[in-house]
Amino acid sequence: MSECLIVGGGIIGMLTARELAREGMVVTLLERGELGQESSWAGGGIISPLYPWRYSDAVSQLASWGQQIYSGLATELAEESGIDPEWTQSGLLILDSGEEAQAQQWAQNYGQACEIIKPSLVQQLEPGLTEQKGEGIWLPDVAQVRNPRLVKALRGSLQHYAVKVLEHSEVDGLCLKDQRIEAVMVAGQKIPAEHLIITSGAWSGGLLSGLGIRIKVRPLRGQMLLFRARPGQVSRIVLSKDRYVIPRRDGRVLVGSTLEEVGFDKSTTSEAREELVGEAYRLIPSLQGCEIEHHWAGLRPASPEGIPYIYKDEKIEGLYVNTGHFRNGVVLGPASARLMADIVLKKAPIMDSKPYRICV
Ligand SMILES: Cc1cc2nc3c(=O)[nH]c(=O)nc-3n(C[C@H](O)[C@H](O)[C@H](O)COP(=O)(O)OP(=O)(O)OC[C@H]3O[C@@H](n4cnc5c(N)ncnc54)[C@H](O)[C@@H]3O)c2cc1C
Repeated sequence: MSECLIVGGGIIGMLTARELAREGMVVTLLERGELGQESSWAGGGIISPLYPWRYSDAVSQLASWGQQIYSGLATELAEESGIDPEWTQSGLLILDSGEEAQAQQWAQNYGQACEIIKPSLVQQLEPGLTEQKGEGIWLPDVAQVRNPRLVKALRGSLQHYAVKVLEHSEVDGLCLKDQRIEAVMVAGQKIPAEHLIITSGAWSGGLLSGLGIRIKVRPLRGQMLLFRARPGQVSRIVLSKDRYVIPRRDGRVLVGSTLEEVGFDKSTTSEAREELVGEAYRLIPSLQGCEIEHHWAGLRPASPEGIPYIYKDEKIEGLYVNTGHFRNGVVLGPASARLMADIVLKKAPIMDSKPYRICV
């Protein structure tokens, strides 16, 4: 029997499995489809919340912890899997926010580099931008990873640490015995578990509601476009009016993203495509000459204020939850996974876990 069963093989499930397996636990990861093909594939990979000062301490603490270790984590994943997640320190340039004072205060509180820069310097940092008239907020330390590569690297790492991965295995029920987790149901079969961690992203609430547990996690759709641009055509992550461009190492540029309350509908729409194309051209006019290679949508696991649930259930022995990372699962993932592992293994936690408990 596995000591630990994890349900949901997105970034959060994979990082959690990796942390526990590194500590010597026997871990099985169950995934309904294939590893990392939902929100974790669809995201932009920015290693920072957008407008980080708009978030609570609970989110900022997880983000800061992750930002400090990400470069090393990417190197380890590349060594373990042979796949480079392309951690790249592109910096984040924020335009048109009018939130310079808040940004400076946040940077001081969290020891982050943050400069308020004149229009001429904005243009110098990103020459492809439309003519700039306002100041910009420049966060030079912000990095990015390439999501499809990150999830592949994580898959390789799980193999390296001998995590048992069962794909095409949808959990459709959780079994209890005397208020203790006993097993999960997959295609009519019971898979026993001593510890069970729910990391099922936007679908987590559905699974837990079967046990009468109500978490406030819902799907929030985000659509993205990929432009086939030239290397160097864009070199910084640029954010303006909640829309961003992210340059990848091979020159491709991602443009995102929408925020849509449409339930579990993952389809793309021509309205969103038009809107994102318009924003891309408004920011970087030269993208008009570039082919749009791909348009997709993902379902973020949205939670109140974007604060994830990372906790051990108090009533049901053996049940744990790590979900609800909303717009920030890539940046919050490493700290969330480490904190979850600390809770499962009863180790001194990397940070106070109270803000991430369920309120009943
Ligand atoms: C457009 C977009 C842009 C984003 N940009 C960023 C960004 O720049 N930076 C950042 O930090 N974050 C970003 N995010 C957010 C980030 O991608 C998510 O927070 C993160 O991927 C959540 O990971 P997860 O593992 O919880 O969920 P998911 O990746 O959705 O994984 C959950 C997994 O659980 C599986 N599952 C569900 N139910 C079951 C079941 N019953 N049995 C078995 N398996 C099950 C699913 O198939 C899925 O694979 C973005 C998201 C989107 C959509």
